[in-house]
Amino acid sequence: MAATVILCGGIAAMHVDFSRHSEKIRAIQHALYNHEFVLFYQPLLNAAGQISGAEALLRWQEPGKEMVPPSEFIPDAQRAGLMPAVGEWVIDNALSALAAWQRDPAMAHLTISVNITVDHLMKADFVERLIHLADVRSVAPSRVKLELTESVFASDIETVVAKMHALAAAGFRFSLDDFGTGFSSLNYLRRLPLEQIKIDRSFISGATEGPKGAVIAMNIARMGLELKLEVLAEGIETAEQWLLMQGFGCTAFQGFYFSRPLSYSDFRLFAHRNSPGQQNGVAAEVSQ
Ligand code: C2E
Ligand code: MG
Ligand code: MG
Repeated sequence: MAATVILCGGIAAMHVDFSRHSEKIRAIQHALYNHEFVLFYQPLLNAAGQISGAEALLRWQEPGKEMVPPSEFIPDAQRAGLMPAVGEWVIDNALSALAAWQRDPAMAHLTISVNITVDHLMKADFVERLIHLADVRSVAPSRVKLELTESVFASDIETVVAKMHALAAAGFRFSLDDFGTGFSSLNYLRRLPLEQIKIDRSFISGATEGPKGAVIAMNIARMGLELKLEVLAEGIETAEQWLLMQGFGCTAFQGFYFSRPLSYSDFRLFAHRNSPGQQNGVAAEVSQ
């Protein structure tokens, strides 16, 4: 009797889990087809504190509700096999934004960085679709940076390397995101057409918390530089972190210290205020 009750309870719990999961999947599909996804843009800066590009960051804005961050729905979308569709929406919208910036003299120098999940990258037609979308939107692939995380190296590495080379040959650029936190990919650094590594935020905060943290951050930066990669410090929150990471040779920066991710129109204002032609760029603003 007791066993039957436990078994029934287990099945009921599984049923609740399953229907919650299918509800989430339906909601994500609904969001995709009803324009509830929105891109925010976080400024990327050079060593002079001038804006050099943006990272496109996805949010979910259901009418009348709070904006939902990507960590709360991307894992579900991935489990449901919806990330290729969501990712394609992100790429298309990010490229449309880039096309508009290319027509604006104050923004024409900007690049756009887009996060790519491994299941999307591994779609058979990923390379062709990306080249096609850049062509349709009339954007230069050299202004598009594809951010991969070390998790891609846990999948079929030969296919990943081949796809990266095909896209690099078409002019796209690659950045290794959250560097140092994931699968140990050091061996693959030699084989990948990477242009940039992004040192994960945890190392940046660690760098100003004690001598060991500083040594780790310094050596990650040094390794990137010696491999002739651009080294971007992610998650800069204080002037101290910015100065320290500049001292370690980083030449690109991103973080709340400069700006949080911004809506399309706020990003445009930010870029106009901080373009290289402006004397009062972010460097001047944040050092006050
Ligand atoms: P990520 O690619 O490493 O993006 C940087 C994340 O760090 C963003 O969070 C950004 O808001 C946050 N961040 C930037 N500067 C600071 C800082 O100074 N302090 C702190 N505490 N946080 C900072 P967000 O937008 O919530 O995105 C989280 C993650 O979700 C991203 O990490 C990325 O892995 C994923 N993601 C976001 N948009 C997309 C997308 O369009 N496609 C895919 N596949 N993944 C995405
Ligand atoms: Mg990223
Ligand atoms: Mg990151």
